[in-house]
Amino acid sequence: MEIHGLVDLLADAGSVVAFTGAGISTESGIPDFRGPQGLWTKIDPSEFTIENYVNNPEHRRRVWRMRMERASERYEPNAGHLALADLERVGKLGCVITQNIDGLHQAAGNTAVLELHGTTHRVKCLGCDARMPNDAVFARIRAGDDDPRCEDCGGLLKSATVSFGEMLPTDVVEEAFMRAESADTVLVVGSSLVVYPAAGIPLAATRMGARIAIVNAEPTPMDDLASVVLRGAAGEILPAAIEGLRARLSPAFYGEGVVQVDDDGLEDRNGRRP
Ligand code: NAD
Repeated sequence: MEIHGLVDLLADAGSVVAFTGAGISTESGIPDFRGPQGLWTKIDPSEFTIENYVNNPEHRRRVWRMRMERASERYEPNAGHLALADLERVGKLGCVITQNIDGLHQAAGNTAVLELHGTTHRVKCLGCDARMPNDAVFARIRAGDDDPRCEDCGGLLKSATVSFGEMLPTDVVEEAFMRAESADTVLVVGSSLVVYPAAGIPLAATRMGARIAIVNAEPTPMDDLASVVLRGAAGEILPAAIEGLRARLSPAFYGEGVVQVDDDGLEDRNGRRP
């Protein structure tokens, strides 16, 4: 695995923004959508539109049933999430902009996380936009209410995630563009980079002069724009890169001249292999 390019990029960076997709969570056991084992190989995405949710009570009941079947599932952050939390800890990472809805960046310890597609850990009212904890709504469903409504306004309740055809939260999207466009480096992890408007965020950053690194299992349409492309598992690549970065940032590196940065090599004080 050739991670030295990524270590160099991160070491030189003044302000990094991470842009993550479903691929960073597959190693936690959550399937992505478009990978070879993705959810779209098993279910039909065209059903999961906001229009169908609003207009089709039977679809809503099915969606709640699916939620309840998975309500007890618990997922843990993996080595990729933990490496991004480390990147924040060493002062390099300004924020994580994520398409994910699983909350695993926060669980790993990242404090600045912008969730473009909402969160599966809350329920929202489509009428008055109130947010509420899952448990309160799940208890009502268990008690027999199979199509729950908002207790304040009577509006339809739905997972606080963004479905196909639904508006992304404007304030979050604006902040994400602003943060990405003012960063000098964008680290893309586990995204097919085909879902817009989210994929427009790293693209906008490159137009403002940011350098981009892509860590993904498969090719993406933006690989040609990237300074560094690493193809493989985020849970292996990111920890190796952070280890290399820590070595580069440590006083011992500058004092001793040579340190081990990963299993396959050494770097000198200028970050080059001897
Ligand atoms: P995507 O499913 O379109 O693409 C995921 C990409 O990650 C693929 O290109 C795949 O090759 C790559 N990948 C898979 N495992 C990887 C690994 N271990 N290391 C590196 N790369 C890996 O995902 P997307 O671009 O995020 O878009 C899909 C949409 O689905 C998002 O909008 C998101 O809201 C939603 N989604 C979220 C979750 C989640 O919260 N965990 C899961 C599935 C889908």
